[in-house]
Amino acid sequence: DTVPRTEETFQLQRDQILLDEEKLGSGQFGSVKKGECRLRNGKKIPVAVKTLKNEDVTAKDDMMKEAKFMMNLSHKHIVRMIGICDAECIMLVLELCPKGPLNSYLKQNKSLKQSTIVELMWQVSQGMSYLGKKNYVHRDLAARNVLLVHEHLAKISDFGMSKAVGRDHNYYEAKEAGKWPLKWYAPECVYYWKFDSKSDVWSYGVTLWEATSYGEKPYRKMKGQEILRFLVEENQRLPKPAHCHDIVYNIMMECWTYE
Ligand code: ADP
Repeated sequence: DTVPRTEETFQLQRDQILLDEEKLGSGQFGSVKKGECRLRNGKKIPVAVKTLKNEDVTAKDDMMKEAKFMMNLSHKHIVRMIGICDAECIMLVLELCPKGPLNSYLKQNKSLKQSTIVELMWQVSQGMSYLGKKNYVHRDLAARNVLLVHEHLAKISDFGMSKAVGRDHNYYEAKEAGKWPLKWYAPECVYYWKFDSKSDVWSYGVTLWEATSYGEKPYRKMKGQEILRFLVEENQRLPKPAHCHDIVYNIMMECWTYE
């Protein structure tokens, strides 16, 4: 990390990337495949490769934005971008997190101790604190976007919606509402389209709730308007998950402080 990071540092040649057939998941614009990347020093490392299906210009633009954003990030608990390759299709090459998203992992591993979940979520808080100090907002923190390298190592991923907070304001103001993860959003995001580290803290609380409830869906079948009524008018919050410790529940309740 002493090497200066420029766009060139991240440029990969197509022959540096070996793609497996194994699909890790599907993203918004294409697929994520497992692979191997040969670095300049000759070392080969396992990677996840996000590939764009078609040459949709806006999708390509969005992916480049995501890559440029990730260029500035270097933290133990944030998925590292290895590089980007503009070949037959554009590829975003990421550090591999073999155990996949936290929510699906917990659904399949209900014997995982709450103390291990707390350890993983503490790691997520470290990564989020790093982002906050850099004045970045993630805007899509959720258990599906926390990836596991192994049972004791979590990394924050999916910076597709992330933004740098402006200099004029201490928040990011969205110009238009898109496909937003409303269940993870603080009321000010939904009402005023304003995002800052504190709205990420709200999402962290929901993520902590998902994790301590072993990948359960927050707010069940409730819709956007219903959730707002529940949170704002009735001043209610998600209930304490069955196996969650009081101290941990108090932390999520604090994340959901209205002011
Ligand atoms: P999108 O933002 O388009 O939804 P994601 O970045 O969330 O795409 O990736 C989609 C899926 O691909 C994830 O849910 C996960 O299963 C898999 N995936 C993404 N990045 C990695 C990674 N670094 N290591 C392992 N799996 C990954």
